[in-house]
Amino acid sequence: MKKNFPFLLLFILGVVACNPKAGSEPSAAGAQSSALSETAPKPDRIILMIGDGMGLTQITAGMLMNDNYLNLEEFPYIGLIKTRSSDNLVTDSAAGATAFSAGVKTYNGAIGVDPDKNPVPTILEIAAERGYSTGLVATSSITHATPASFFAHQPSRSMNEAIAKDMLQAPVDLFIGGGKDFFTKREDQANLVDSLKNSGFTFYESPFDIPSNAQGKIASLYADKQPISILDGRSDELLVQASQKAIENLGSKDQFFLMIEGSQIDWEGHGNNSEGIVAEMIDFDNTIGAVLEFAKEDGNTLVIVTADHETGGYSIVGEDEEGRLEGRFTTGGHTGDLIPVFAYGPGSEMFSGIYENTAIFDKMKSLLK
Ligand code: MG
Ligand code: ZN
Repeated sequence: MKKNFPFLLLFILGVVACNPKAGSEPSAAGAQSSALSETAPKPDRIILMIGDGMGLTQITAGMLMNDNYLNLEEFPYIGLIKTRSSDNLVTDSAAGATAFSAGVKTYNGAIGVDPDKNPVPTILEIAAERGYSTGLVATSSITHATPASFFAHQPSRSMNEAIAKDMLQAPVDLFIGGGKDFFTKREDQANLVDSLKNSGFTFYESPFDIPSNAQGKIASLYADKQPISILDGRSDELLVQASQKAIENLGSKDQFFLMIEGSQIDWEGHGNNSEGIVAEMIDFDNTIGAVLEFAKEDGNTLVIVTADHETGGYSIVGEDEEGRLEGRFTTGGHTGDLIPVFAYGPGSEMFSGIYENTAIFDKMKSLLK
């Protein structure tokens, strides 16, 4: 009861402050969140979780195949984001992630740069400047569009080696993903793993090897290029444990910003594979459960779960005789659907409503101490 009181008070204040404006102008949602941000308690820790390609149907599929339940149901605030990029009705993951990481609408393929290809400061960099520890965890290569957009600034997502090199300057304290070859088998012959070791990083072959009491900067590049899918044998403990270790090592008592990506929901969507979508979705939701468990115990952590876009134009039309989902797909690419946002913890009420994907950055930035 004691814990709920500030939230109730905030809710009442929010309603009183914002009601006269509600719906009267297009910026009403923006006005509402900025009004709330002045009174909202600020979390010590922000964990942004991105399910790449995770639309409502992907979520539904995971839920139906998981005894009709997902950890996402525990989130008290739910919103919707508009996802189009600066040059396309349908975003890619680079422009989608740059909207979250830097608050700008940019062109498809852009990594942490604006439409004129100028670097834009990311939430990870801003948080680091303010003394936060920072981390990135993914089930793709760490140079892939989504994680890259938080630490790199390059005109094209295809520039994996240039993106990897940006890690040398990035204020990242922990990263776990695939893509080792982009650091060690490079055209310029440089060995960036050695460079990163010289600048204080300890590398672990597998995230399972990271000790919970490890000190200093930590990295694991656990695949040469892209990690394999759950259906092909990636452990369903990998993302959960990598995320738990990231939380432990960033310091569960200190301020940190952590981005965790369930990267491969998107890839199974591109493959129009219902079974694969379900496997990656449940893997991501198990990780959400573990993160939420930490956040509930901690009481001072904001958890935001969203996606960059939907993939596959996926719909569920029934089930077969063995109880497997029958899915239909309208495309092998992405779609322009509104995408759900789930938020838990201090400041989470700011994430309800319908707003642009760039507002995820604005809201997180306003909640930094
Ligand atoms: Mg991605
Ligand atoms: Zn995709």
